[in-house]
Amino acid sequence: MTKETFSFQAEVSKLLDIVAHALYSHKEIFLRELISNASDACDKLRYEALVNPGLLQDSGIFQVTLVTDKKAKTLTIADNGIGMNRDDLVETLGTIARSGTQAFMDALTASKDAKEKKKKKGDDAGGDIDLIGQFGVGFYSSFMVADKVEVTTRKAGEDKAWLWTSDGTGEFTIDEASRDQHGTDVTVHLKKEDKEFLDAARIEHIVKTYSDHIGIPIILAAEGKDAEEKTLNQASALWTRAKKDISDDEYKEFYHHVGQMWDEPWLTLHNRVEGVMSYTSLLYLPSSRPFDLFNAERKTQLKLYVKRVYITDNCDELLPSYFRFVRGVVDSEDLPLNISREMLQHNPALAKIKKALTKRVFNELKKKAEKAPEDYAQFWDNFGAVLKEGLYEDFENRETLLELARFHSTSEDGLITLKDYIGRMKDGQDTIFYISGEDADTIAQSPQLEGFKAKGVEVLLLTDPVDEFWIPSVGQFEEKSFKSATRGGAELSNIGKSKDDTKDDEAKDGDDKKNEDAEKTSKIEPLLAAFKVALGDKVKDVRASDRLTDSPVCLVADDGDMDMHIERIMKQHNQINEATPRVMEINPDHALISKLVVKAKKAEGIDPVVEEAAYLLLDQARIVEGEPLADPMAFSKRLASVMEKGLI
Ligand code: ADP
Ligand code: MG
Repeated sequence: MTKETFSFQAEVSKLLDIVAHALYSHKEIFLRELISNASDACDKLRYEALVNPGLLQDSGIFQVTLVTDKKAKTLTIADNGIGMNRDDLVETLGTIARSGTQAFMDALTASKDAKEKKKKKGDDAGGDIDLIGQFGVGFYSSFMVADKVEVTTRKAGEDKAWLWTSDGTGEFTIDEASRDQHGTDVTVHLKKEDKEFLDAARIEHIVKTYSDHIGIPIILAAEGKDAEEKTLNQASALWTRAKKDISDDEYKEFYHHVGQMWDEPWLTLHNRVEGVMSYTSLLYLPSSRPFDLFNAERKTQLKLYVKRVYITDNCDELLPSYFRFVRGVVDSEDLPLNISREMLQHNPALAKIKKALTKRVFNELKKKAEKAPEDYAQFWDNFGAVLKEGLYEDFENRETLLELARFHSTSEDGLITLKDYIGRMKDGQDTIFYISGEDADTIAQSPQLEGFKAKGVEVLLLTDPVDEFWIPSVGQFEEKSFKSATRGGAELSNIGKSKDDTKDDEAKDGDDKKNEDAEKTSKIEPLLAAFKVALGDKVKDVRASDRLTDSPVCLVADDGDMDMHIERIMKQHNQINEATPRVMEINPDHALISKLVVKAKKAEGIDPVVEEAAYLLLDQARIVEGEPLADPMAFSKRLASVMEKGLI
């Protein structure tokens, strides 16, 4: 068998085209990406060799070697790591759908657009190629500087070696090759204009800038008169060094490497624990959302090391999944070195570390929330939706999470706490009101809130899908229940009276309130009856409202029925088809309603205008809810007819 030719998967081709042809200001990051891959490959082999020492053909001293060839204009990044076989090559460097590719291109276009807007100020217009490592497509960045890339590789434990070649335009080939030992050489044939990457000083500077923290030596084997080998990096795992010896920039570079992120860390927590348990943790909280934050797997992203030996990425046993945006490493002194990944599950030592780390992150968040509320608000904006998952998943930390939670509300511009809310509750109010939907500005305008606004009763604006899950599971905060402002009787008439009045009310068995309600209902009774007959099972009930001031009608969910916003979410996901009939509430004080009441009173049977109005008002309420109309044709006919005849 000899050379085989493959086509890049279409997405990868597109990516390569962008990478090769755009003008970037940070081309040198290709070296960071290739060194990072080489170092990962060594980590992987070190781990495999723990159970299978026969895999190691050499001394087991891992290193990355950089070799330049000025005549051939090539730079080779060589490692003695795990290597790849033919199938690995096909899978990882070319054909299989790689979810990161599209995500990266989207991010690239977004950042390019943003920059183009700024271009007038003289910034360059290239997209942010820096982001590339984050999306698991870092290898392809080599085509920024190369017109050809060759990968010669041999997998540990196998005899055959392979040569992968591509010029980055649509195709690649794989052929048999030879290599003395396991490992990989990535040879970059530099474009004419990129010869700077053959220069020893330039290479050294790049490695120092981006890869100093790599835990194995990065050695430059330069040619010519300075032909000696030189180790370019510190080659000690960064987290093992003392805090005072690590600069902000070093922390940041390590974050980019370990977290595959390209923003500034929002918080860096470096900590060594010694005692019954000994471990070092270096955790980073990002300042922006990772692109895979809402992936279904909800995997945590910490790397686990045991005594400096890499064990696994995404160790699920180190932090709860609502902290999956946290990046970094944990290095344990206590776990056995030959621990298999399977043994990590339900491991008591890890469980202890998890508990301690969780507590530590919470404490730091509390400190931030207290000392730098604006900074914390930014954090909450990014990750609040994820943390709220903990409210129904992690009973033990529920109180802490409720304390840390922030909300938008109808009475403040910024974010508030539940304690703030309770502190502002009106006399007679014993409920935390909320309204949920997709967009805070839209739901803040909902007709159901009119009465709340009129009485100055604050309502929380909830816009994360997760809100529909934790609210029913949490139920209450400081003995005040949560209640949707779009549900059932709002009991607004009780609120806002002084405490004494309420007591009186209770003394009279709430008779006053009942009378008030009864009065309102009786005033519009004929209309309620007519609407009920006209609309039949399209509504669950028609009632007088105490929550409307400006709008004539609105829809609410009856107590015990499904919340309207949840129902919309479920419909979008095709989990239900049938809509629950809603309660239509009518504003007894609205001029239009008063006119309709007069008509309804006069009529024997149902006045046809009242019937039309019933349908029109129901449809109008649906439009306000953002729901599609069941029959838009019928709606527009009715509307035209009512306008034409000037009926109401
Ligand atoms: P990522 O490193 O985020 O997975 P890359 O595009 O940088 O994405 O690399 C793709 C994959 O190619 C790697 O996950 C790895 O499986 C393989 N690979 C790249 N370089 C090497 C190497 N030097 N040794 C072994 N495998 C490698
Ligand atoms: Mg990589």
